[in-house]
Amino acid sequence: MDISKIIIAVDGYSSTGKSSFAKTVAKEFGLLYLDSGALYRGVTLFAQEENLISPDNTIDTELRNALGRLDLHFGAEGKLYIGERCVEKQIRSMEVSRQVSPVSALAYVRNFVDDKLHAFGASGGVVMDGRDIGATVFPNAEIKVFMTASEQVRARRRYDEMVAKGESPLMEDVLDNLRERDYIDSHREVSPLQKADDAFTLDNSDMSIREEVAWLRGLIQGKLSIREC
Ligand code: C5P
Repeated sequence: MDISKIIIAVDGYSSTGKSSFAKTVAKEFGLLYLDSGALYRGVTLFAQEENLISPDNTIDTELRNALGRLDLHFGAEGKLYIGERCVEKQIRSMEVSRQVSPVSALAYVRNFVDDKLHAFGASGGVVMDGRDIGATVFPNAEIKVFMTASEQVRARRRYDEMVAKGESPLMEDVLDNLRERDYIDSHREVSPLQKADDAFTLDNSDMSIREEVAWLRGLIQGKLSIREC
C-alpha cells in the first residue's frame, strides 16, 4: 500500500472532531484534506442567498437548475469559495447549520457534491471527512474511520468553536442543532450517515488529537503488515 496514494475516509456524527482529526492526519501523512460538509454548506448558503429555501425548510425545485450556475470550489488554504467570494465564515453560521441537513438530503444536491468529491479523490492521496464517504462515495477507501463522542462533549466543542469565531450561541440551540442534524442525516433516504461495515470506530470523548493520530498510525501499520504477509 503506497501511503501517498491512499484514501482515508473519516465519517461520523456532527461535531465529533472529524475535521480537526482529518486535517492533522493529512498533514502528518502528506495527504490532501477535503471537507465534504463544506460543500453541502456552500450549496445551502447559495440556496439561501437565491431565496430558494424558506424558513420552514421548503426547498424550491428551481434549486436543481440553479446549481448549474453555482461555481463552488476550494481556494487557498482549503477555504470554500462561491465564484471569487470566500464564504468560509458564512457557511459555518447557525443559519446555514439549521438548513444544511434538509438540503443535503436531496439526491440532486448529493450528485452535485459527489461529482466534485470523485474528481478530488480520483488519483488518491486524500483524507476526506463527511457522513457517507466510506459507505458510498469511496467504498474502496483503504482506511475508514467512523468517529463518535458523547453528545455533551460534541455540543461543548461546537459551542467553543462558535464562541472562538465571535458568535454568541446558546448551548441549548447548539445541542438541538446537533441532535436534529444527526437525526435527519441518519434517516434520509439517499446515502444516510452510516458506519461502513469495514470502518473502525473511534470514540474520542476522552482522547487528545495526538492520541487519535497515534491510534490511526497503529491502524495503518497493522494494515500494511497484513498486506505484506
Ligand atoms: O461536516 P459538517 O457538520 O460541516 O456537515 C454539514 C452537513 O452536511 C451535515 O450535517 C450533513 O447534513 C451534510 N453532509 C452530508 N454528507 C457528507 C458531509 C456532510 O450529508 N458527506
